[in-house]
Amino acid sequence: MSFEKIKPTNFDLFATVFYPSSCFCCRTDTNMCVYVCDQCAEKLNKLKTKRTKTVSYYGNSFTIHSVFYYKDEASAAVKMLKFTFSPDGAKAMGDYIAEKASRLKTQDFDLVAAVPMTVKKVVIRGYNQAELIGKQVSRYYKIPFNRKCLKKLRETKPQHTLSGIERRINIRNAYAATADVKGKHILLVDDVATTGATLCECATTLLNAGARRVTLMTFAATKYSN
Ligand SMILES: [Zn+2]
Repeated sequence: MSFEKIKPTNFDLFATVFYPSSCFCCRTDTNMCVYVCDQCAEKLNKLKTKRTKTVSYYGNSFTIHSVFYYKDEASAAVKMLKFTFSPDGAKAMGDYIAEKASRLKTQDFDLVAAVPMTVKKVVIRGYNQAELIGKQVSRYYKIPFNRKCLKKLRETKPQHTLSGIERRINIRNAYAATADVKGKHILLVDDVATTGATLCECATTLLNAGARRVTLMTFAATKYSN
């Protein structure tokens, strides 16, 4: 599918009267419904990844496609979205992911899903940033965003506090998928991938529940394997 930017809706345009548009990396004011300033767009361009992250996870190998290396403007944007509710920032990330997805060989996605948080965590934070990103990506493909097909069953320790192997143990069997995923090609998105353990565990859960295929994509990622 060729990539075409989604035009802002009348609602989006109206909303800028109350919430002026700003850059999702540096918060500078931008034109109506533009979510990245020219300077950051240029800097982000230099952070684009050319490789994928391949993770071997409990006997299976998964490929993670990420748009940017997790540093500078890209990491600023991820942190901003994690700590401040900004649907516009999520839209910008969704746009970048969709643009990258449009260049993948196989794009017969049936639905978009996001790495879930526990209900308790969503209540504390007020939103799940991966979900906001996923909703935007689903608009490009005109396919459903399904927030219920994958859920997190228990609270886990923050992954960044753990070593590689501890992360796998921490997240193992922490998710469950519903029958909605049977036979489907799922595009699973998240904001950032570090070791990839969370995404691989989610993909394993979806495949075990009968998903036909899972494509993993994130806005940013650390370390690349090939
Ligand atoms: Zn900026």
